[in-house]
Amino acid sequence: MLVDSKYSKIFESYLLSDSKYNEIYNHAVEILAHKNLVSNEVSSNLEFYIEMSKNNFVKFMRAKYSIISSNFDYHLYSDVYVAYENKFKAVQKKMKFEKITYSGVEYYKRNCKNKKKGDFKKHSFIKEKTSLSNCLNFLIKYPNSELFINNQSNDNTLSEPKKLFYENIKNQIDKFGFARLSSLVQLKRSTVLNKYSNPVEFKSLTFRGRSRLTTNIISYNKNYNSVINNFINISWLERGSKLSIPVKYSKKYHGLLKKYHKNTDTEYRIKFLKNQKISVIICTDGQRVIPDNKTNFCGIDVNVKHNLFCLSDGTTFDYNRKLVNDLAKELVKIDELKKDKNYKIGKQRQNMVDTIKNKIKKSNEELCSEVCKYLNSKGLDHIVMENLDNSFGKNFVDDKNNFDINFNRVLSALNLSSLKDIMKHVAMKYGISVSLVQSAYTSKNCPVCGCIDDGNRPDQETFCCVECGHKDNADHNSAINILNRVLLTVLKQRLLKLNKIDDGTFEPKDLKISEVKEILLSLRSNLYKKVEILHTVLV
Ligand SMILES: [Zn+2]
Repeated sequence: MLVDSKYSKIFESYLLSDSKYNEIYNHAVEILAHKNLVSNEVSSNLEFYIEMSKNNFVKFMRAKYSIISSNFDYHLYSDVYVAYENKFKAVQKKMKFEKITYSGVEYYKRNCKNKKKGDFKKHSFIKEKTSLSNCLNFLIKYPNSELFINNQSNDNTLSEPKKLFYENIKNQIDKFGFARLSSLVQLKRSTVLNKYSNPVEFKSLTFRGRSRLTTNIISYNKNYNSVINNFINISWLERGSKLSIPVKYSKKYHGLLKKYHKNTDTEYRIKFLKNQKISVIICTDGQRVIPDNKTNFCGIDVNVKHNLFCLSDGTTFDYNRKLVNDLAKELVKIDELKKDKNYKIGKQRQNMVDTIKNKIKKSNEELCSEVCKYLNSKGLDHIVMENLDNSFGKNFVDDKNNFDINFNRVLSALNLSSLKDIMKHVAMKYGISVSLVQSAYTSKNCPVCGCIDDGNRPDQETFCCVECGHKDNADHNSAINILNRVLLTVLKQRLLKLNKIDDGTFEPKDLKISEVKEILLSLRSNLYKKVEILHTVLV
């Protein structure tokens, strides 16, 4: 379904006078300095700000400083808050007590590639909440709450669970003494806070602002003899003051001017370019695909060895092998020549490589179109794929079978991490949404029993679970795992978040690879009960 949405468009300044450039530049320097001042304040009082919401943070800072024009302060303080948001979350997460017990050694349960049944696998630990850890977790949040707890545990008007909760805290305090628990909590607090006490340093001069003028944000130059055809008008430092920036406007790229005029309250971003130029980025209305209520997902695995895309229904789409082989050959030649340290790649050869790369990009776009047409024909409207980054393809490093083509070289040249963006772009035309999931463990996870093990991949072609024996084509298995991350509610809630633009698609939460593993493994105990559900996914 297509709905109205926002897109940003870039306007480049054109013949901007020195004095205007300096005025904007000086303002940016001022904003940057203030950002760093606020950042220092936050990092030295981390505890004070840690639980504030963004809106309260902005309100608080406005009142504290009140020196920045109201056209800029909201974005300035929001930018600082966002830079600290992850720190706040990390500190809150670290300030938790858990009981960790060593639970012994795990052994391999069956023979696999490098290990035999009964070989040492790993040490394992159990993390659990106890009465003591619950008490400490409360005290670390509310350190001076002894009196409060006393009152609460005697308060008969409280609900039963609340009463039990405070009674437990009181019992623990009676057992270990408040001073002792307090010092433990303090130690943890200061260790964690110390670790996160470095201020975030802002370096970029880019700044954001909002414009609330009665004149249109973009206007034609009424002086028709001038070479400047348009101006962007933004609210400037004083209330009601206006700054006009001469820009180039192209109907083909920017679209009709009237769509910028719908709002009298416009957000924009100013960036500094080379040669005294700036760019102004403003929002415009456009359309975006929103998945319908009844969404039909399709997992897609991206790989290079056997095909480019493998869908969770088993269909595969191959890339243009001839082009990729041509590229591989050229790159091998260049690598040979580069053994001579004085060798510099010639223009002709570079052009040749660029041409092949462009052709590959084009053919990949066509391939994405083919996938979308296929999905349309099957009534599938929501793609789930991995959030591939530049480390994609490192699985091939150790594969001796690839010696005929230098796969790593080709992979980096192909820039496959951009495939997700190409797919998003193409899919939109077909009314298909694209969600992204973490790429960690998609190839090593068993969708039937949840086991994660290097041994699950005896070779590039095969998936064979070392624990339950589930066997599948390796690429298809990955596609199923990718799909499961949105189909299984537990995984979806813990691994993914809704995209900020609120179009119903998911993106990966910012998690460490060990956290992803923990979440995947946490499903294991439940999985045995869910086998039926999974089997319906598998067929
Ligand atoms: Zn298994």
